[in-house]
Parts: sequence; C-alpha cells; structure tokens
Amino acid sequence: MAVTVGVLSDTRRRTLEGVCDTFAPSVDVPDVDDTARAFYARAASDLGVAAQIESLLAQTALPEEIEATGQLLDAIAGQGFDGYDLDARTALLHAMGESAPEVKFGLRQLRALTFLFFYGLATTTEPNPNWPAIGYPGPRSAAPSPEQAPKTIELLPIRGETTELDADVCIVGSGAGGGVIAAELARAGRTVVVLEMGSYRNESDFHQLELQGMFELYLGGGLAASEDGSIAVLAGSTLGGGTVVNYMNCIRTPQPIREEWAAHGVEGIDQPGYEEHIDAVWQRLGVNDTATSQNRTHKRLIAACEELGYPHRPLTRNADTACEDPSTCGYCYAGCQTGCKQSTMKTFLQDAADAGAKFVVGARAERILTHHGRARAVVATVTHEDGSTGELTVNASTVVVAAGAIESPALLLRSGIGGPAAGRHLRLHPASLVAGVYEQPIEGWVGQIQSALSDQFKHIEDEHGFLIEATTVAPAIVAMSLPWEDGLQHKRTLGRLAHVAPFISVARDHGEGQVVIDDYGRAVTRWGFGDEVDARLFKRAMVELARLQRAAGAKEIITFYQRPVLRWSEGEDFDAFLAAIEDGSLEPNDIAAFTAHQMGSCRMGSDPSDSVADGRGELHDTKGVWIGDASAFPTAPGVNPMISIMSLAHRTAANIVQAT
Ligand SMILES: Cc1cc2nc3c(=O)[nH]c(=O)nc-3n(C[C@H](O)[C@H](O)[C@H](O)COP(=O)(O)OP(=O)(O)OC[C@H]3O[C@@H](n4cnc5c(N)ncnc54)[C@H](O)[C@@H]3O)c2cc1C
Repeated sequence: MAVTVGVLSDTRRRTLEGVCDTFAPSVDVPDVDDTARAFYARAASDLGVAAQIESLLAQTALPEEIEATGQLLDAIAGQGFDGYDLDARTALLHAMGESAPEVKFGLRQLRALTFLFFYGLATTTEPNPNWPAIGYPGPRSAAPSPEQAPKTIELLPIRGETTELDADVCIVGSGAGGGVIAAELARAGRTVVVLEMGSYRNESDFHQLELQGMFELYLGGGLAASEDGSIAVLAGSTLGGGTVVNYMNCIRTPQPIREEWAAHGVEGIDQPGYEEHIDAVWQRLGVNDTATSQNRTHKRLIAACEELGYPHRPLTRNADTACEDPSTCGYCYAGCQTGCKQSTMKTFLQDAADAGAKFVVGARAERILTHHGRARAVVATVTHEDGSTGELTVNASTVVVAAGAIESPALLLRSGIGGPAAGRHLRLHPASLVAGVYEQPIEGWVGQIQSALSDQFKHIEDEHGFLIEATTVAPAIVAMSLPWEDGLQHKRTLGRLAHVAPFISVARDHGEGQVVIDDYGRAVTRWGFGDEVDARLFKRAMVELARLQRAAGAKEIITFYQRPVLRWSEGEDFDAFLAAIEDGSLEPNDIAAFTAHQMGSCRMGSDPSDSVADGRGELHDTKGVWIGDASAFPTAPGVNPMISIMSLAHRTAANIVQAT
C-alpha cells in the first residue's frame, strides 16, 4: 500500500510510532538462532507501521475520526509516555485500556492495525521479513496471467458526471443472493443491470497475500466491526460478494429452520416443493464431497471428535473437482487462484452475463427512488478508474436489494423505505476461536480452509447451539486477534504459528442486533452479548473447543479473551482453565468475536410491523422492491448460510418473474 502521510501532527505521529513500537517492540532475545533474533529485534517502526496506519486513516477515515485518534494519542502522550521505557509504556497502555470503553476500543484498533501491517505487509516480490521466523511461507504459488485466466464477464463502462440507464430490473449487490437472482431474471428475458460496489477481480488478481486480499475483496477492507468493537464483521465486497472469499462449506437449510420460517410467513418453504430451489443451486455450484480432503488442523479436529465420541462429517463444498489443488486452498480467503471455488462470479453471474445482464462495478447504490409507493430507480455513485466519481441512475420498476445484511438495510434506511423493521433482527452467528498449539507442525495455511464439522452441540439450548468447525491460519489476522500481554509474549506466540490449529464455533443467535445509519448514511452495526443465551452459548463453545484441543493433544491452548489473557499449558489445572473461561468477560473488546454470516436485517414475514418484506420477498411498503440476500432470513439458520441464501433467492427470483 502506498504511504501518503500527512493527517497527524508531528507530535501525534511520534506518539503513534511509540505506541506501535510498544505493541511490536524491539526486544533482545539472545539464545535463539539468527532469524529469530532478528525477528525479536525488529520493531514496528522498522517496517514503517505507523506511517501505514496514518496512510490508512488518510484514505478511509472522516476528519472527526482522525481527530478522535489524534486525541487518543494526545491522552497517551499526556501521561508522560514519551519518557517511559518499554515496560512502563506497556503498563500505561494496559492501564489506559481499563480507563474507559472508548479508550479500550481505540487502543484495540491501534493494536490490531499494528499487527495487521507488522505481519501482513508484503508484495508478490517482497515477502514480509517476519515470516521466516514464524514459519510462514507466504504465497505458495503465483497467480495465473490475465491471458491464462481472462475475465469473462463484460462490464458496462460508465463515464462522465451523470449517466442514466433503463432496465426492467436493477439488482444491488452481486453476492450469493444477487448473483442467483441476476441469472434467473436474465434467463427469464428481463433486462437486468447489476450494481456492485466492489471491483471485478478474478484468479489473475488473487496473489495469496492477506493484506491485499482484505483491502481489495472485503467490506471495509476487512476491518469492519460493530460500533463498539464487540464483534469483527467479515463480509465480501467484490464482484461475487462473499462467495469469492468464503470457505465453500455448503449446507442445505435444515428442515426445522424451514418450518420456523414458514411460521413467519414464508409460505411453502417447509414443503417438499422447496427442494427444487435448493437442488437448483446445489447443482449449479457443483456441490460435492469428492473433492474434500482434510489438512492437519482438520485431522486433529476429527481425532478429537472421535476421542470424545462426537459425531463429525466431511463437508460438501462448491469445489470444481477438476482443478482442486488442496495445497494452496488455505489462502482462498483472499480469492481462489485456481478457479476451483465455484463462486457466483464463476457460476450465476456468468450465466447472467451470458443471458445479457449488464454489470457496473465500483457502483455504490445510494438510494432507491420511488413514485406513489412503487420502485422507480436506483441512484448510485460510480467511482471511475481515475478516482473521480459520477452519478448513475438506473430507471427500473423492479429493484432487488442484495447488498448483504449490513448494507441492504442501510440502503433502505437512506431511501426512507422498508418500514419499522428495516435494520432490526440482525443475526450474526457469533463465532469464537480457540487455538491449540501442538508439538508437531500443523502449517494451518496448507489445505482446505474448512472440510469437516461436528454438530454435537447444535441444540443444547432448545433450538440453539453451535457448530464446531475449523479455519485457516493467516498470520496478520491471527496476530490482530490474539491477546497481547506485552510485545515479547505476543512475538513468542507468533513464533509458534506453524504449530497452531484453530478450532472455531459458529452459534445460532438467540438475541439480535441492529443496523442503523449515521449522519452520513453509512451503515452502523449494533450488537453485543446482551442476550443471556448467546453469552452462555459463546462461553460453552469456548469450553468445548478447549476440550477438543486437549483431546487432540494440544500442548498449549489459547483463548481469544483479550484481558485477562486465558491460556493453558500442559501440566496446568485444566478444570481451573475451563472455569476461568466461564468467568471471562464478554464486554466489548474483552474478547475477539467474529461474524462471517450477517443475516435477517430486512427480514421476510407476514407482519409489516416486524418484517420488511412479505413472504414472497417484496417490501410491505414499496411495490417493486424485493429483498434478495441474507438479510431476508426471518431468523438465523444455525448453519453456514450460503446455500440457504441462494435457494431463498432462487425462490424470490421465481416470485419476481411471476409478479412482473
Ligand atoms: C470469510 C468468509 C467465509 C465464509 N464461509 C462460508 C462458508 O464456508 N459457507 C457458507 O455457507 N457461508 C460462508 N460465508 C458466508 C457467505 O459467504 C455469506 O453469508 C454470503 O456471501 C452473503 O450473501 P449476500 O448475498 O447476503 O451478500 P454478499 O455475498 O456479501 O454480497 C453483497 C454484495 O453487495 C455489495 N454491496 C454492498 N453495498 C452495496 C451498495 N450500496 N451498492 C452496490 N453494491 C453493494 C457488496 O460489495 C457485496 O459484493 C463466509 C463469509 C465470509 C466473509
């Protein structure tokens, strides 16, 4: 990333450098080999981390947000930070973190950014200098050339300050839901324009680089979070949306969930006839388990399940069996280089393009225009290649909102439509992570990111519980989320990265969050562990993940509680460790929680006071506007949602064809 400094005063910049060098300091560790010694001696400032953070602020933050960071730096400097040694600086940052929730959040953000750059900065020709010491090889293969992997979806070029287009249907968002609806409507003969806020990137752009992947393919550059930092929000933002970066875990919507949704007013979804929608997406994605293989992380998970007598099964995945190369699959969170991942970019969007749909990328839908309670047009801001912007109006009497469950309600709220439920009932499938450190190398970046699961705990509180799964090891993301006691401890933990196997839980929400918009019309996610069942499930999940890690032979187990740091080493009292997990704080920024599944914020239902769209998917209050993504879910499905999103979208597409 090019560094363009200049939004902080010299004093604030110096303090930021000092803070980064406290999180990732230079420490003298004599009894190690040269590579490790150089790693311990390397500080954040040796990689220009503070300048990178300042540059990121300059490019992404509003003046008042930059000022808030500046004031935090002033407050740190005001405590005499400059004159302190490393231990005193470490103690000061911890003490300040306990002083007020917003200070804790601000420091956690600075810490996360420090580690993001410290372990993530790299290019295709220049690896990160820390990688050899932590055993991370970096990219394992080169991206194919544009000639080898041509872009086959034609884009509609938009130039100038204002442009107007006409279409039968305008679809906002090209992810799991939007992709399916684009294909089905184009196939049905409708003229379709798809607006996608992200860019069009394919295999030739996927370099197996974590930082680049986050910034180019994820919502908010991969740094999105709830308003108070209680949960990190991972969502795709590129042509194909989340399906380009996801882990290909395909699960059919469970029958009890279909019955629950039918009771909410999604008629017929519980009936056998609905299978045709699931089958259609299953087939187009080529879902199979023949290409599923287990890496070392998953072998440990399976061994643990067997040891504890838990059921487990290999995953069915939307992987092309012809080009499956498991050795590089661990990097596909940054895009699949081989083209094996059957994202909507490779399937439904291609079908839509082949049937004549038009695509505009870099197009952020700002609002939906209506006339007498009917859809009339979508107004979008288009960012041109030179960075300038223009306004695009797509006149269409049918609009499909499929911008993902964070951005879809924001679009409705900006447009003043959707009724009282717009943004409410947000479900996130909160995920916890517990890492096991093993004697033998795991190399968690090798092999398929997800390939097995256990549903032993899926119904431990009525219809609520959690799935047990596993994930990849990406150094910057791990480093950002790991607890930090001091710079040396953090580096020591990273030094064992090649031996780490991360197990995760994915819980079915009992409570809910909300999406609102701020004064600038931007989506703001509100969510926390206020619901007692969700809090209980989250802690129980960490306990069970820890038990599994121990059963699999972990020598050390690390939770992602931030403070106090909760870890266990072989020989220590395990029951006391589990009890400490149960006692831990789930207050914002005391635990690293994640969501890769956002749902329900424009839900379908029969009651207009409690749902946004009717049982067919059309808004209660605005004819011609349909909800086509995960935000349409009446409740959380409790399983990885891609197949549920796509099949519900397939049904909604049929309803649109019938209605128009
Ligand atoms: C890292 C990761 C791993 C995952 N793994 C799995 C898995 O293994 N299995 C599974 O079932 N699910 C998985 N998921 C979840 C799944 O991919 C998502 O739930 C799914 O993609 C959501 O579909 P959607 O249609 O609701 O939105 P998305 O797929 O998120 O698409 C929304 C699109 O809308 C665009 N957009 C947003 N706002 C605007 C706007 N105003 N104007 C224009 N465009 C806009 C976005 O850029 C985005 O491309 C994973 C998700 C992530 C992030």
